[in-house]
Amino acid sequence: GPEEGRGHACVPHFGDRTRAFLKIQEGCNFPCSYCIIPSVRGPSRSVPVEVVVEDFKALLDAGYREVVLTGVNSGEYGKDTGFRGGLAGLVERLLAVPGRYRIRLNSLEPRAVTPGIRTLMRREAALAKHLQIPLQSGSDAVLRAMRRNYRAAFYEEQLRALAEEVPGVGIGADVLVGFPTESTADFDATLALLERSPIAFVHAFTYSPRPGTAAAAMPGIPQREAAERTRRVRVLGERKHLAFAARFVGRPLSALTLAPSPDRGRALTENFLHVALPRPEGPNRFVTVTLRSAGSEGFAAELVEA
Ligand code: SF4
Repeated sequence: GPEEGRGHACVPHFGDRTRAFLKIQEGCNFPCSYCIIPSVRGPSRSVPVEVVVEDFKALLDAGYREVVLTGVNSGEYGKDTGFRGGLAGLVERLLAVPGRYRIRLNSLEPRAVTPGIRTLMRREAALAKHLQIPLQSGSDAVLRAMRRNYRAAFYEEQLRALAEEVPGVGIGADVLVGFPTESTADFDATLALLERSPIAFVHAFTYSPRPGTAAAAMPGIPQREAAERTRRVRVLGERKHLAFAARFVGRPLSALTLAPSPDRGRALTENFLHVALPRPEGPNRFVTVTLRSAGSEGFAAELVEA
């Protein structure tokens, strides 16, 4: 999915030296009819494995504990350079680096969630159980018009396999709402898919035409209708998020402490729940927390182990 282009590693994006982004890939060759990225950023290019490993080590040396691997289409990793192992092979190379750290994958296209990725996520405690997987639409007709390379049933099957093989995984879905051909029935199919899928986070974007793309030439639906559909997806997403968090109340979760606010601590669990701790805690420590409550006012947790 679209992703802000970033420089190389070593930039403290979060300000507190706890989490850093590491770019592993840029560009995209996919033909999505609404997306301008392939024409402005060019085809997929992978950062060589050795460079990624060196950047990763430099971030660890600089004190970062969590490294988020980013790319425009990270699942294409290695295809241009002939690195056979692909993204899973790269992650294995990083996991061979000694130290206490956590690696997080950012966003993967549905077809990129391979058995190899699922196995690593299940087996490796240092690989966060969290993945963003763009859905865009739950309607096959819309997916076809978007020129996405999967059907809704395939997406669902990928999510089912991931949730089954990686217990507790936090799965996010990006949804592009109000595509020009999206009928109310298409939109209802999207809502229904989100509703029944093991999704913890929903990121809804309202479609807007990008000049020069195939979709920009299609007559669209009214803007206020698209905005209203987006609102409905967000309401559903918030409910899914709370329901996901509620599953973990009373259960231990691995977390990294972040920079505290003046009166309380903050931590990010491996499955991407932002939790509040009763007292400020020093940042950048791996801890075990127990979630005490999960409501729309936030997720309260206690430190059970430093
Ligand atoms: S996969 Fe599709 S939406 Fe994502 S960057 Fe490539 S063309 Fe754009």
